[in-house]
Amino acid sequence: MKHFDRPPVVIALANQKGGVGKTTTTVNLAASLAVYEVPTLLVDMDPQANASLAFGLDYRAGGGHVYDLMLGRLSFDQVVRKTELESLDIIPSHPDVVAAEVELVGLEDRTLLLRQALSLAADRYAVVLIDCPPALGFLTLNALVAANHVIVPMQCEFYALDGLVRLVQTIDLTRRSWNPGLDILGLVLTMFDARARLSHQVAEDVERHFPGKVFKTRVPRNVRLAESPSHGKPVILFDVRASGATAHMELAAELLARLNLN
Ligand code: ATP
Ligand code: MG
Repeated sequence: MKHFDRPPVVIALANQKGGVGKTTTTVNLAASLAVYEVPTLLVDMDPQANASLAFGLDYRAGGGHVYDLMLGRLSFDQVVRKTELESLDIIPSHPDVVAAEVELVGLEDRTLLLRQALSLAADRYAVVLIDCPPALGFLTLNALVAANHVIVPMQCEFYALDGLVRLVQTIDLTRRSWNPGLDILGLVLTMFDARARLSHQVAEDVERHFPGKVFKTRVPRNVRLAESPSHGKPVILFDVRASGATAHMELAAELLARLNLN
């Protein structure tokens, strides 16, 4: 495993729009970073727990999760899990967050919970990726406050840019109130279909709105990416030759270059 003698880069993968590829990108980017031997932590902040399940972690099997950590019920070591990849650990999620939110009503620094929790073990990792739920509530806010950067996955469809104004406003608010250094590191185009004019049109629109911010790697629509979670594996461990596996390796290399970690 490589060693990096600086604090980890924490990246929130956020877009309040549902089904745009946040979890697919987080899971497969994390796995690719681990293949490059970058010590990586994936934090599943979504009560749907899709990223956890993609690594075969079913909340019904019990065990600690991210809300236990945020609420101080369990320690970092009690909630973190190893994966099949030596350089990748994961903190799973659980649908119980509704209960957690009730417990948190009135707590003044409740947006700082994830940042505080991660600071305890951060020196073990070079990169931390946080998979956010499709909402701009308390959980995404915790991720934005804990992060140095945001990556916005965007599905190449007609309404791709809709709602991005609110996301940008939320990032601005987070920057002003809690986290002055937060920035948008980049936007990832997902489910790209090179033969469809619409995909190219969306790519142009996003590039025009966020010049220089769109990752060159476009994640193609690839059935293997959709199948691999049901096998509890990231695509690279499921079918290394799949176009989705290659794309995420390229995306990870591009990310490391943007972060000067290569
Ligand atoms: P949510 O907002 O519910 O958390 P999400 O933004 O995390 O959703 P995903 O769960 O990653 O989105 O993707 C939505 C669906 O699209 C899933 O069924 C996933 O398997 C599928 N999918 C995502 N990316 C691709 C792709 N590149 N090729 C094929 N299918 C994909
Ligand atoms: Mg998701």
